[in-house]
Amino acid sequence: MVLVESRLAVIPDFPTPGILFRDLTPVFADGPAFHALAEAITEPFAGRFEHLGGVEARGFLLAGAASVLCGAGVLPVRKAGKLPRAVLSEEYALEYGTAALEVHEGELPPGSRVLIVDDVLATGGTVGAAARLVERAGWVVAGISVAIELEGLGGREALDRASGGAYEVRSLLQY
Ligand code: IMP
Repeated sequence: MVLVESRLAVIPDFPTPGILFRDLTPVFADGPAFHALAEAITEPFAGRFEHLGGVEARGFLLAGAASVLCGAGVLPVRKAGKLPRAVLSEEYALEYGTAALEVHEGELPPGSRVLIVDDVLATGGTVGAAARLVERAGWVVAGISVAIELEGLGGREALDRASGGAYEVRSLLQY
């Protein structure tokens, strides 16, 4: 993770004043760093999932790269209104208002084990909504794996409360 961390950009006051934004795009731009990240993000869950649930948009990059390395399929967890067939939809809270994530109904066989992947865990709203979608669709949450965990924002605790501690949450870098 030293290589990954060395490429990570930190931007003060983005997208709003007072926010310290952690930006993975320089990691994606560096082949060896991206390769190391894509390997590490699934490693703790090896042998325990068949699919990667990549959350739009940076989770798509991580899930896509990791899927080629580990042989899992990808479930795109998309923002509302993008998927063309029948969907399941889950709302989650933003700082102001709500947003929704969607998956295609029946995209995976019943009981498929899905590892949810995203770039950043902050309040946990985003990956929490992805996990609810997986469960409502009849699949199993194999775990939640993120590159960066912003520990002060309580995401891990919120996911524990929501799931009764059922979700294994792993992060590679903590701030
Ligand atoms: P949460 O729903 O509050 O856990 O926020 C996580 C979502 O917001 C993820 O999908 C991230 O892409 C995005 N996010 C939150 N904070 C940051 C950050 O510092 N850098 C990049 N993305 C962030």
